[in-house]
Amino acid sequence: MDFKPANNIQDLQYFGEFGGVNPSISDSSTYTFLSAKTMFDTFEGNADGCYLYSRHSSPSNLYLGEALAAMEGTETATVTASGMGAITPVLLQLCESGDHIVSSRTIYGGTYAFLKNFAPRLGINTSFVDITKLDVVEASITNKTKVLYCESVSNPLLEVADISGLAKIAKKHNLKLVVDNTFSPLSISPAKLGADIIIHSLTKFINGSSDTVGGVVCGSQELIDQLRNVNDGAAMLLGSTMDSLRSASVLKNLRTLHIRMHQHSKNGMFLANEFEKIGLKTVYPGLKSHPSHNLFKSMMNESYGFGGMLTIDVGTLDKANALMEMMQKENLGYLAVSLGFYKTLFSAPGTSTSSEIPEHEQEEMGLSDGLIRFSIGLDADIQRTFNKMKECMVRLKILQEEIV
Ligand SMILES: *Cc1c(COP(=O)(O)O)cnc(C)c1O
Repeated sequence: MDFKPANNIQDLQYFGEFGGVNPSISDSSTYTFLSAKTMFDTFEGNADGCYLYSRHSSPSNLYLGEALAAMEGTETATVTASGMGAITPVLLQLCESGDHIVSSRTIYGGTYAFLKNFAPRLGINTSFVDITKLDVVEASITNKTKVLYCESVSNPLLEVADISGLAKIAKKHNLKLVVDNTFSPLSISPAKLGADIIIHSLTKFINGSSDTVGGVVCGSQELIDQLRNVNDGAAMLLGSTMDSLRSASVLKNLRTLHIRMHQHSKNGMFLANEFEKIGLKTVYPGLKSHPSHNLFKSMMNESYGFGGMLTIDVGTLDKANALMEMMQKENLGYLAVSLGFYKTLFSAPGTSTSSEIPEHEQEEMGLSDGLIRFSIGLDADIQRTFNKMKECMVRLKILQEEIV
C-alpha cells in the first residue's frame, strides 16, 4: 500500500493570524456576524466558513480535525472532548431504538460497558463476537443490524481485525463499519481498507504526553455534518466538545507522531523479541508467533511498525503485581493505565474487563490473571531497559537464573 499518512499531515499549511507558524488559537465561545442574515443562514447550515458557537465548531477544532482526516484519508473529521465522547455519539447517531450492533468482544472497557449496560436502556442491543472469525461475524447480523464495530488492534489481547474482510461484509449487508484505531495510528489506515468511520482516543499515542483526554471521529462529510447538526446531531447535542486551547496543543503534538510511533514500534519489537527468547509468553503483532502477524503485515503502512503495545503472561496476578511494583521502583516505567506516553506504562488487565467471554474461552484466548499489558515508551536505550526488566524477573523468580 502506498498511502502515506504522515506526509498528508506534513503537507498541510496553516498560518497564524499574524503570519505565525502555528495557527492562532480561537479563544472564543461565540462569534460576531456583520449581518443578521448571515447569522440566520449559519444557523440553518447554509453559510460555509462562518462560525456560530464553539460547541458546534471552532477554527482550532477544525484545524485539528482536518489534520486527523488527512492522516486517516477520510473526507473530514470532528474532534471531541474524549475518546468515549467520540464513540458514544457515533453509535447513537447511527442507531435508534430497536437497532442492533455486532461488536468485537475484545474492546476497550468503556466501550464495552456502554454497549453492554447503557445502550440497551435506549433499545439498542449488541451481539459480542470473536471478530477474527468472519463467518461468526456474518452469522450474527440480523435485519436490525446497523453497525459493525471493532478495534484494529484490540485491547488488551492485541487481536487484529481483518478490516478488508469486515468491510466486505458491511457493504453486503448495508452496515457501517466503525473502527477504533487508537492502538495503531499511522500503522493501520482503516479507511483505505474499506472502513466507513474511524475513531481515535487522542488521549493515547496521538497526543502522546498523557496530559489530556481527547477524541476524534473521521468519516464522510455527510456523517460529520449529521453529527454536528444543530437539530439532531449527537455530537452537537450531547456536547462532548473539545476546548480550543486543547485542540491547539494536540495539533502540535500530532506533528511528531510519526517519529514517536517509529520509536514505540522499534522498542516494542525489540522487547517482544527478547521477552520471547527468554521464554515469556509474549503477545505482539510483530512476532511471527502472533496468530495475526501476517494479517497485520498485509494491512500496515510499513514504516511505522507494529506499534508500542505488547503483553506478557507471568502466571499469576500476585507475580504480575510484584513485577509491576518492582519495575516502577526501578524507574522502568509507571504502574498506570492508558498508553502512548514517553515512559513505559504497565497494568494488569486481568479477566475482569472481558466478563462477557466464558471462562474457558478466556483461557483459550490467553486472557489470564497473570497478564501484564505494556505500552512501551520512547526509551533511548531499550537494551538497558530490557536488562533491568530481566533482573526484576529473576529477583522475583519469574525467570530461572539459568534460562537467563
Ligand atoms: C482509551 C481508549 C478509549 C477511550 O478514550 P478516552 O479518551 O479515555 O475517552 C477508547 N478506545 C480505546 C481503544 C482506548 O484505548
